[in-house]
Amino acid sequence: MPSYEFTCRECAAPYEVRLSMSAYSAGEGIQCPTCGSANVERRFTAVSVLTGSRSGSGSGRSGCGGSSGFT
Ligand SMILES: [Zn+2]
Repeated sequence: MPSYEFTCRECAAPYEVRLSMSAYSAGEGIQCPTCGSANVERRFTAVSVLTGSRSGSGSGRSGCGGSSGFT
């Protein structure tokens, strides 16, 4: 069962819920556990950001191609 991350627009509380895709599409369980509001925003993981920035590399610093910063 996939987990979805949300941020509440009412109280700005981030939370994560596990939902089946049918429940998610039906809008079940997306209410904020803190204030109960359904006015929430879906948060996306950084995976799509990493894949998107990779195609644009080339004008960065001279390195090993992005492996710098880990050492
Ligand atoms: Zn809330």
